[in-house]
Amino acid sequence: MKLVVLGAGESGIGAAILGKKKGFEVFVSDKGIITQKYKQVLLNNEIPFEEGNHSEDKIFEADIVMKSPGIPDKVAIIQELIERKIPVISEIEFASKYTNGIIVGITGSNGKTTTTMLVNHILKKAKINAGMGGNIGESFAAQVAENEYDVHVLELSSFQLDGIVNFTPHIAIITNITPDHLDRYNYKFENYVNSKFRITENQTAQDFLIFDADDEVILNWIKNNKVKATLLPFSLKKELEQGAYLKDDNIILKYIKEEKIMSISTLALKGKHNTKNAMAAAMTASLLKVRKNTIRESLEDFEGAEHRLESVLKINGVQYVNDSKATNVNATFYALDSMKTPTVWIVGGVDKGNDYLELMPLVREKVKAIICLGIDNQKIVHTFNNVVDLIVETAGAEEAVKVAYKIAEKGDTVLLSPACASFDLFESYEDRGNKFKQAVREL
Ligand code: ADP
Repeated sequence: MKLVVLGAGESGIGAAILGKKKGFEVFVSDKGIITQKYKQVLLNNEIPFEEGNHSEDKIFEADIVMKSPGIPDKVAIIQELIERKIPVISEIEFASKYTNGIIVGITGSNGKTTTTMLVNHILKKAKINAGMGGNIGESFAAQVAENEYDVHVLELSSFQLDGIVNFTPHIAIITNITPDHLDRYNYKFENYVNSKFRITENQTAQDFLIFDADDEVILNWIKNNKVKATLLPFSLKKELEQGAYLKDDNIILKYIKEEKIMSISTLALKGKHNTKNAMAAAMTASLLKVRKNTIRESLEDFEGAEHRLESVLKINGVQYVNDSKATNVNATFYALDSMKTPTVWIVGGVDKGNDYLELMPLVREKVKAIICLGIDNQKIVHTFNNVVDLIVETAGAEEAVKVAYKIAEKGDTVLLSPACASFDLFESYEDRGNKFKQAVREL
């Protein structure tokens, strides 16, 4: 059987290695440049490849094509493959055929990484043989090729879910759904929502779908579509017949029996959004038979993920927080919501059609100054002009931090939570967060 892998990033390389191991004749094709690290892996594994081109003669010979999540369906080569009826699947689909491990699949617009890391942390503490991967760290295929995990904890983007056929997580989590990546979905929110819900399409009643019951988009979809999985919602606002909820600020899990897990005051991660992530993770662990004390201890000592409401330093009584991963308005909403002090807010970058109005009440209440960090700041200035007295435009992390330092007073927080993509001034959100942290350390 001939397997062609399109795209030589983390997913593509993983699929190529797994394919080779399973006896496929593998060929990797990348239209761009393949990084040196991945080239070496291909060479070491004696997998032929090309870069800078897609050779149609080789690609159309494939029995099966694995498309990397970064390649949109509408590109010519994919359309041609579809016309020729050559199966095009995702790496997630491919890898799932070769493991008997339990799959926990985690998707959503925000909170995927945090929830994935929380689940993994609890399972590790419970001494379960679990591996974490997917959209975070190692690809699922590489994991399957190299290890025999009992549980795979997978962060899944909507792009990864787009290419599934039979992939079935035993436990699926949808953290929330707010508009994002609409350019890949013909600017239709509905398409993006449908894509997220593909995580449950092959589930049966023996499987579980954990989701945010306070999210109207999710509730509506479930109301209008048949979900076969057992539903386990979580909510900050109401007690539920089944699922996870709060009672007197304690996290309660209710499935078959009711169990009090812990007080939210001792959760390591602060903010309402993180309480939701913790509920989803706790419910998952409980379904995998982890004892409640282990769940509690894990949620108390979890160290948090870099660039997500990450405390950097306290200087002259001012706390600096790096939330560079907030690349959309919803993530920034929760960052501002969790602020307990007057806040100097660093915001801006590449606008993804942002509607800042939902931030207005929080900005009025908490933000004493706005520092714009982007090439085009007009929308931010225009939106908040009459609400915040001081708005300063900057075009670099160092400048933004220096201005913040001048403005902030003892007891304030300087929060980088951009609500925008980073590509105008930075290579990535990590680069933006690192430059921010560097500038803070140099103060
Ligand atoms: P993802 O992997 O889905 O991008 P992350 O865990 O990396 O999610 O978090 C991305 C951003 O969203 C961070 O700024 C984080 O503070 C914020 N965030 C985390 N969890 C949630 C949530 N449940 N709802 C809204 N925002 C969240």
